[in-house]
Amino acid sequence: MNGAALHAEPNPVRTSRWSSPGPSDGNMYAVARMKGKAGQGRFWVGMETGECYENYPWWAVALCNLVSQAIYGLGAFIVYQLGWIWMAIYLVYLLVLEIRLLGGHCVHCYYYGKACAFGKGRLSALFFKRGDPGRFSGKRITWLSMIPDILVGLVPIIAGIIVLVRGFSWTVLVAMISVLLLATAGSGAVRNSLACRHCRQRELGCPAEQLFRKAGSQES
Ligand code: SF4
Repeated sequence: MNGAALHAEPNPVRTSRWSSPGPSDGNMYAVARMKGKAGQGRFWVGMETGECYENYPWWAVALCNLVSQAIYGLGAFIVYQLGWIWMAIYLVYLLVLEIRLLGGHCVHCYYYGKACAFGKGRLSALFFKRGDPGRFSGKRITWLSMIPDILVGLVPIIAGIIVLVRGFSWTVLVAMISVLLLATAGSGAVRNSLACRHCRQRELGCPAEQLFRKAGSQES
């Protein structure tokens, strides 16, 4: 997940092979059980969502990062049209979000020290100590707490509107549309078909995934 945020309701008790008996301690129990059995490499969990990766393959990590890095790059380009100082502020903001994610969320994730869909489990282990696996699923995530992540795509759109009002530019308009599509449909597609679909932490309980799934089921 790009911005692992917090969740709105207690995690349901899962009934799969890797299910946990409770929302917090149970997850730690399940993780310990999996570590003993799974080892490294690809792993079949046996759930209807398909194969869960112990470590995501490199091409999946590359693809997932392609979308988020494209949003960052295009976003920085659009904001730059307002001046390099605004771009610098935007880049620092992205850096703060990444550090917050690595140090505040990834440390508690099952993929700490492993290759998650975004490769951040490994990155987190380089800079931060392992956290408490029970805290990952115990967090409360709402759309309000997702605002800092939503701003990553929203700020360039707002900046782009200002730029277009000052003087129309096809390049900026195309960049804005690209950011919009990548931040909505692109991120959703990567999450549903790759990142969350094959995620072990999802099986253990992921408040962000539950929030997205809830929103998706309300839309359909
Ligand atoms: S299910 Fe996995 S990939 Fe999806 S948001 Fe949660 S931790 Fe990230």
